[in-house]
Amino acid sequence: MKLRPALLLSLLFALWVPIKASARCPGPVALQVLGSGGPIADDDRASSGYLLWLNGEARLLVDVGGGVFLRFGQSGARIEDLDAIVLTHLHTDHSADLPALLKSGYFSNRTRPLPIIGPSGAEGWPGIEDYLEGLFAPRRGVYRYLAGFLDGGDGLFETPAMEIDAKLREPITAFGTKDLRVRLVGVEHGSVPALGVLIEAEGRRIAITGDQNDDNPAYARMIEGADLLVADHAIPQDAGRVAKRLHLTPQGIAGLAGEAGAKQLLLSHLMHRSLVALDESRKIIADAYKGPVSLADDLACVRLD
Ligand SMILES: [Zn+2]
Repeated sequence: MKLRPALLLSLLFALWVPIKASARCPGPVALQVLGSGGPIADDDRASSGYLLWLNGEARLLVDVGGGVFLRFGQSGARIEDLDAIVLTHLHTDHSADLPALLKSGYFSNRTRPLPIIGPSGAEGWPGIEDYLEGLFAPRRGVYRYLAGFLDGGDGLFETPAMEIDAKLREPITAFGTKDLRVRLVGVEHGSVPALGVLIEAEGRRIAITGDQNDDNPAYARMIEGADLLVADHAIPQDAGRVAKRLHLTPQGIAGLAGEAGAKQLLLSHLMHRSLVALDESRKIIADAYKGPVSLADDLACVRLD
């Protein structure tokens, strides 16, 4: 039997279902979406956040946008188990819940330092070190009652800032333990200092674009052969010039996934403006990238066994 192209296309789209949300995210290696939305509170999604699970422990958190505080608790993750937190950049939808999540850790058994890795500053933007100072500095910080996060005092665990030069166009290993490595490279996100992420663990490679535009060959090189590419799908193809300076277009996402040879693609950072144009975006992406594509949802779990 010969299938008509239209039917083939609809069968293909039928595979684009949201990955099922689950509280726990088991497996030797898994990535859980804590927030699949963007900066607008109109889509029933938390803002950006991703949790790496290794052998049943949540070991790395990438981005802590609004709502991630709640999703972190729902996921069953424990702040004691985190090796580090990475903030790809300091837009609110990637960073605003950080102080609340850290404060929650005060009530845990954690005593060891928790590194906070983030970009350097630029005109109009603090670096990650100034960001933490702005939150917790003893005299001037807005949450000065939590100043112990800067020096480990007052019964709080220390949160040392690890500032990565956002102008870097060669990837570096920013953080590593015996079974986990975080590689970062500077990416273009308008005038905002921003980092693209690759996590390597248990022989798996997980790429998280963060917010970036289409103009980042160093990022594509860094994530070559990724087992999973989580791409921010914030805008439709016909978005305006300013939005395209900030974000990957559907064409850009497909190009990145294809160039990097990513084994699967998860679209996240979904917003009303990208969701209403989803059918069109799907066609554009399916034309250029032949691997499996899924839509993220809050608490969705992608196992990479
Ligand atoms: Zn952003």
